[in-house]
Amino acid sequence: MLAFDNLGIRFGGNQAVQGVTGSVTPGIITAIIGPNGAGKSTFFNLISGFYKPTSGTITFGGQDITRLPTHEVVGLGIARTFQTTTIYRELSVLENAVLGHRVRTRSGLWDALLATGRERREGRASEEAAMQALRRVGLEEQAHTLAGSLTQEAQKRVSIALALATGPQVLLLDEPAAGINPEETVNLTRTIRELAAGGLTVVLIEHKMSMVMKLADHIMVLHHGQKIAEGSPGQVSRDPAVVEAYLGGHAAPHIQAELKADLIQNAKDVVSATTTSATGGTPHA
Ligand code: ADP
Ligand code: MG
Repeated sequence: MLAFDNLGIRFGGNQAVQGVTGSVTPGIITAIIGPNGAGKSTFFNLISGFYKPTSGTITFGGQDITRLPTHEVVGLGIARTFQTTTIYRELSVLENAVLGHRVRTRSGLWDALLATGRERREGRASEEAAMQALRRVGLEEQAHTLAGSLTQEAQKRVSIALALATGPQVLLLDEPAAGINPEETVNLTRTIRELAAGGLTVVLIEHKMSMVMKLADHIMVLHHGQKIAEGSPGQVSRDPAVVEAYLGGHAAPHIQAELKADLIQNAKDVVSATTTSATGGTPHA
């Protein structure tokens, strides 16, 4: 289990994450939401070892991982994607997955390069792991396609495959649906659900509230670096502090607009569900 206690980081006078305590339940999808600048990506940077906290601890399976370098955190089974898609555009999809695995599990570029020679013997195994990662995100057909020539959505899938190739137990996804269209978002949502159904623990930062509400088993809300609420999607969406954080003066305008659109859509869904069950209950309808 992944747990954090009083986790915090300060950049100069800016307390980006502050006193965050909690844990991630294995095998479910946890979403982290909150307005822009709430500290969500910074929280991932702390968990994955990219930033060292100025307070608090992180444990994984009972082991203190607070000060471990990123490649050791990856080695223990925590992998992540980045908010901006980071793939090797000039390589094939399969080469991306193989290289992603190497770079992320070595301490430095030299280690990764030296490993290339060392791993020539193990090349087949490494390629098989990469291929398996591609299968899990539905990219096996594009294995030999140039990554840079793929659609935005497929490139998001490549970045997820890079993380999966490291064999994680916990997958951290930072806004996987940013910049892709609604239909692609639905497809990506399905893939993430399948990954979780296969036993992977997923932690997801996401702006698209409709996606979060459909996907998350559990939601944690950050605001000004602090955890202001947590619970099921239903509990969180009714929480006054959450509504205030989103609709109050601090929320970015596009979040407000998106949340309003979601609220309208939710209302429509509720009405159509009621209508369906009402007519469905009548034998001659
Ligand atoms: P979110 O992902 O929720 O939109 P971030 O975690 O990216 O927010 O940012 C939270 C706060 O931390 C912001 O005020 C941001 O400017 C600050 N921050 C993040 N990383 C750094 C850094 N490396 N140096 C200085 N400030 C940072
Ligand atoms: Mg972010």
